[in-house]
Amino acid sequence: MDADRKRFDEALRLANIPSDQKELLPIKSFETQKIANQLMAVRRPENYDPFDHAKMSKTTTRASLLRTRGFRQAVIEAYDFQCAVCGLKIHAPDAATWEVEAAHIVPHRALGRDDIFNGLALCGLHHWAFDTGWFTLQDDYKLRVSPQKHRLPADFGKMDGYDFLLALAGKTERIRLPSRREIYPHINALRWHQQFFSVVNNDRKKHESNK
Ligand SMILES: [Zn+2]
Repeated sequence: MDADRKRFDEALRLANIPSDQKELLPIKSFETQKIANQLMAVRRPENYDPFDHAKMSKTTTRASLLRTRGFRQAVIEAYDFQCAVCGLKIHAPDAATWEVEAAHIVPHRALGRDDIFNGLALCGLHHWAFDTGWFTLQDDYKLRVSPQKHRLPADFGKMDGYDFLLALAGKTERIRLPSRREIYPHINALRWHQQFFSVVNNDRKKHESNK
């Protein structure tokens, strides 16, 4: 274990990652795993409040740090270390960290909770696209892609010709979800993101008149 830690510290040094950020990296520890297991074992609440009002205080304690790490571990483990949207699954060459990230549905800045009902495992690109409102999740866990896509210049959003927004828009199936229904993202968290998506894309009126 100590040898692993040393190797990890050396990898951080080589990657120029400041040691104060080490605690935020998705490394596994006994304590983190314990919290992650607790987060995955919870019963699904009927009336879920995706906001953690206690987050108002800005001080970072050891407990809140462990909680953050536990959240990340629980989410990526629940989604089998895969992006819920594209299925990308890959770790670092030394297997110390995973590429997939634990995204908040109601983001941290809006006081979103660090729990499994407000979490989603996403690759770096899809995490960014979700956070900025390029897509949202409907109540049936299917994607809804921003209508702004049609206003983008032709060379935007392409990776060697692969148009990732077009690929998202073409998906008709729901995203990859945890094996247990009990820990699927909660509808109350999704509703916040749908609202955010409408505001960002300025299509609230259109959306409402379609109802
Ligand atoms: Zn992805």
